[in-house]
Amino acid sequence: MSGALVLIQSCTVDMIRIKCPYCGERDHSEFTYGGDASIKYPALDAPESEWTKAIFFRENIRGMQKETWHHTNGCRLWLEVERSTITHEIKSVKACHPQIEKITKSKS
Ligand SMILES: [Zn+2]
Repeated sequence: MSGALVLIQSCTVDMIRIKCPYCGERDHSEFTYGGDASIKYPALDAPESEWTKAIFFRENIRGMQKETWHHTNGCRLWLEVERSTITHEIKSVKACHPQIEKITKSKS
């Protein structure tokens, strides 16, 4: 078996599956990674140095990390996913905006 084929099969086996609370479990290729969900952004009138730190300086977390993912090819909602950067295990998935669950439950 060629090296490229082994790599392709390896990527397929290790693919992340995200259980969207609205669409069900889907392949991560339906989603767009949005970045670290734990960042606290400064006030709009904060000094440029605070904004620079918030935008460009990120922790490279080894372990559980809260991330934002956009379900681009699904419900198009932004989700907060708690995922291990070591094993890709997903601990929790919820809508980023807390009011979304109230809206979707009242319509069903
Ligand atoms: Zn979805």
